[in-house]
Amino acid sequence: MTLRYQHFITPHGTVEFPKVVRGEGVYIWDSTGRRLLDGSSGAISVNVGHAHPRVLDAMRDQMGKIIYAHSMRWDNDPNERLAARLERMSDWGYGAAFFVSGGSEANEAAIKLARQVAVSRGQDSRYKIVSRIPSYHGATTALLGITGDPDYAAAYRPMFVDMPKVDVPMIYRRPAGETAEDVVDRCLSQLEDTILREGPETVLAFMIEPVGGVSTGALVSPASYSTRVRQVCDRYGVMLIYDEIMSGAGRTGKFLAGHHWPDCRPDIVTLAKGVSGSYAPLGAVLASADMVSDVRRAGGFKHGHTYSANPVSCAASDMVLRVVEDDGLMARATSLGAIIKARLEAMKGRSTIIGDVRGLGLHMAVEIVADNSSKEPFPAAMRAAERIGMLCRDHGLLLFSRRTAGGSFGEWLMICPPLTINEAEIEEMLTSFEAGLHEFEREAAG
Ligand code: PLP
Repeated sequence: MTLRYQHFITPHGTVEFPKVVRGEGVYIWDSTGRRLLDGSSGAISVNVGHAHPRVLDAMRDQMGKIIYAHSMRWDNDPNERLAARLERMSDWGYGAAFFVSGGSEANEAAIKLARQVAVSRGQDSRYKIVSRIPSYHGATTALLGITGDPDYAAAYRPMFVDMPKVDVPMIYRRPAGETAEDVVDRCLSQLEDTILREGPETVLAFMIEPVGGVSTGALVSPASYSTRVRQVCDRYGVMLIYDEIMSGAGRTGKFLAGHHWPDCRPDIVTLAKGVSGSYAPLGAVLASADMVSDVRRAGGFKHGHTYSANPVSCAASDMVLRVVEDDGLMARATSLGAIIKARLEAMKGRSTIIGDVRGLGLHMAVEIVADNSSKEPFPAAMRAAERIGMLCRDHGLLLFSRRTAGGSFGEWLMICPPLTINEAEIEEMLTSFEAGLHEFEREAAG
C-alpha cells in the first residue's frame, strides 16, 4: 500500500480516515453510504455548500475555454473579473489583487509585498512582523515564525526566524478582576512596548486575524481593540495586515470581518478558503494600487507561483462570490447565526461543560471546560473537544475541534456550517451536537 496524506500526518496506530465520495449542499457521504452534516464547512471554507450548480457550471464553462496559461505571460478574464469584484466587495479601496493557491501562500505573498513596499519607500530596515499568541497564519517555514502556536513550530525551530509576539485579548480567559477593556489596555500597551523594544524602524507590520479562526475559537475582540491597534500602527509607521483567510468572504455576516469595525482599515488583507468556497485552490492578497505602483517603480514584485491567477480557480471564486451576493448569504449568516447562538446559549444552561459561546454570523465556536463555574479545563489526556467531535460524528455531524498548545488557551468546537444551511438542517445540526455533548458528559462522569 502506498502511504498517503493521512499516513504522513497521523501517528502509528491511528484509525484510517473514512473515504469521502460525494457532497451536496450541507452534506457529505462516505464510502459506506453514510451521510454527515458538514457543520464546520470542511476547513471553515465550503461557504456555499457542496456541488452548487452555478459554481459547477462556471467551472465547466471555464474549463471548456482554457484551464491553464502561465500568469507570468498571460492575463485572463476570470482573473480580471474577480479582482474587480473583490475591490468592490472589500470596499476599502483595494485597487490591487494578487491571486495564489491558498492561505499560506497568500500570507507569504502579503509579508513579501509589505517588505517590497517598505524597501521601495526607502525603509530597508523594516522587516519584523509582529503577530499574536495564539494565532495561525500558515504552514510555510517563514509563517511558522509568525504563527503564534508552538505546536506547529516545534520540529522546525532552527529553520525559521521567530518574530515578536503579543497577546490576543482572550476575553473569556481574562484574569479575575479584569474587565474586557482592561484586557484591551493590557494588550495595546504590550503591542506598543514590543514595537519600542524591537525599534520601530525595524518593524514592518502587525499581522492579526480580526475575528479569530480555529486558533482562538472565533474570538471577537471588544470594538475599541481594532481602532486602537490602527492608532498604534500609525504612530510607528507599521503596516497592518488582516489575515481574513478564515473570517473573510461573508462568513461573519459582512464581506470582511474587519468591516464590523469600519474605522480601522488594514493596509493589506489576505483571503482564501471561503473566497472560492473551496471549489478550487485560491488565495488572494488585497492592497491599495499605490502600494503596488511603488513596488513596480522599484522593479516589480519578485514573487509568483505556477498557479497564480489560475483561470479555473478565479472563475470558481468569482461565481461563489456572485452566489453570496445574489442569494443574500451575508444577511443570512447574520440572521441564522443569531438563531444558532441563542440555541447554543440555551444549551449552555443545560450543560456544565460549555464554558463560552462566541463568534459572529456563521463563524462560531463553543469552548469546552470541565466546569463552567470555575472555567477549569479538562485534563489534556482526555482531548475533550476532539472526543466530543468524534461522538457528534456518530450522530451524523462533522465538527472541527482544536485544543491549543498544551491546552493553555482552551479547547473548542467550531460551529461554522455553510452559509446556505436552512432551518431544518440547523435543527438537525444542533440536535446532533447536543447528543454528542451529553454523551461526553456521561463518559466524563463515569
Ligand atoms: N490563516 C488562517 C487564519 C487560517 O485559518 C489558515 C488555515 O487554516 C491559514 C492562514 C493557512 O491557510 P492554508 O491552509 O490554505 O494554507
